Amino acid sequence: MNTNEPFDVVVVGGGIAGLSAANRAAQQGLKVALLERGTGPQYLCNSRYSGGVLHIAMHNAKDAPEKLMDVIKDATGGKADPELAHALATTAGRAIDWLRDEGAKYIRVGNIVWQQHVLAPPRPIVAGLDWKGRGPDVTLRQLVANLEKRGGKLFRLPAVTLMEKEGQCIGVEVAANDGTPATQPLHARAVVLADGGYQGNPALVSEHMGIDFTKVKTRGAGTGIGDGMRMARAMGAQFSELKYFYGHMLSRDSFTNDKVWPYPQLDELGTVGIVANDAGERFVNEGLGGVFVANTIARLANPLSAWAILDHAIWEGPGRTARIPANPQLANAGGTIIRADTLAELAAKTGIAAAPLEATVRSYNDALAAGKTENLTLPRSAKPIVPMPIIKAPYYAVPLCAGMTYTFGGIFTDGDGRVMSTRGAPIAGLYAVGATTGGLEGGTNGGGYVGGLIKGITFGMRAAEHIALSLKG
Ligand SMILES: Cc1cc2nc3c(=O)[nH]c(=O)nc-3n(C[C@H](O)[C@H](O)[C@H](O)COP(=O)(O)OP(=O)(O)OC[C@H]3O[C@@H](n4cnc5c(N)ncnc54)[C@H](O)[C@@H]3O)c2cc1C
Repeated sequence: MNTNEPFDVVVVGGGIAGLSAANRAAQQGLKVALLERGTGPQYLCNSRYSGGVLHIAMHNAKDAPEKLMDVIKDATGGKADPELAHALATTAGRAIDWLRDEGAKYIRVGNIVWQQHVLAPPRPIVAGLDWKGRGPDVTLRQLVANLEKRGGKLFRLPAVTLMEKEGQCIGVEVAANDGTPATQPLHARAVVLADGGYQGNPALVSEHMGIDFTKVKTRGAGTGIGDGMRMARAMGAQFSELKYFYGHMLSRDSFTNDKVWPYPQLDELGTVGIVANDAGERFVNEGLGGVFVANTIARLANPLSAWAILDHAIWEGPGRTARIPANPQLANAGGTIIRADTLAELAAKTGIAAAPLEATVRSYNDALAAGKTENLTLPRSAKPIVPMPIIKAPYYAVPLCAGMTYTFGGIFTDGDGRVMSTRGAPIAGLYAVGATTGGLEGGTNGGGYVGGLIKGITFGMRAAEHIALSLKG
């Protein structure tokens, strides 16, 4: 980097959120620089790894704002910040159109309501990582090209500290790539943090979530290492609840077999059947959904002791219905699936305690037959995920682990992406967007998922528009 010129906006991070903010700012005539820590034209980030579905809490992001507000409220148990929810619900439709105008292409998948805007070309229905040349990768490269065409500068360098003057953010210190000097200042009238969260930082994950990082599979690029949080904290930023993550149940083999992550995720198996530990006992209300179950598994004394237990009807039914289904993708990818004609034999093959497993399945089946799963000692919700009995041989056990995709919590902002201080006022000149922010997702029991891509695009746009307005005004 060889520049002393001040910029209107410096964006930290070149995922979907940062590139949306940078392009929207440049489109409005602002002088923009974007810092990206990753190297090469296809630097890794969660946006590039993603499935490319633009949705809001598994609904069409172009639905009426009032409906979307309800959907967000439901998904997060009413914990989403109302201002953030309103901003997302009222702007998401425009964000989808804006991205299309930037060159993104969408396909829709039949009548599946949450898959009406899938970045094209879509990833194939196969296990493992498959991002090269897929919709998110193509879209990110298009956004980089658009930024350069608009005169924006892309520096492949990491931001390390925010520069502050009288409580206002006036730029960032950037690490040099030649080692001399160690950092260089990049002056700006506004800085947008879009570094993607802290799921790639073992110390922060342990500190804020109480999770042993070595026993949870990172289900993403691991490039979000909490730099934005650290920088914002130094300027007195406020944070939302940091305890929960967005993720799924994965095959435990994902620690040793790269073909079984990030897909298939195994939520359909564990939430329609049961999830048990080595002692043959249920330990979680599976009906609260895969994100909740994954968060619970991650916090077990031994997070590598969980199993999905199901029968043939579940394996052949819900096992085949996910976007990238476990049946047959897990087997195709070499993932462990243990089958047996009886539960006793299943226990013998897996090492799960036999008598407790049989008792657990019996009481679960009995409660289900009586329509009283809520009355189990450990209740099991029967809505919206409908449980199925475990009665038809062969029986299946699939070893699970928790896969952490990204952190729900983060820097707290207002609806225009302005970073709020611990005193409750915006920090002048400082914005944050995308997965580095919190306040919208998580919620009751940590299960509420709103949609990382649409959140990044929407708030990236909104922050840029707010910066343009305030700099021009
Ligand atoms: C396998 C998978 C599937 C997914 N599928 C979907 C889906 O279908 N739909 C959906 O809505 N969401 C999905 N998500 C979630 C979604 O991808 C993320 O929530 C979203 O992409 C986050 O975007 P972002 O721009 O905030 O972060 P990122 O895309 O992670 O980008 C952050 C960037 O900041 C850079 N950076 C970090 N620190 C610095 C620094 N100090 N200086 C400079 N640069 C820095 C990183 O290198 C990175 O490039 C999925 C995620 C994964 C992993």
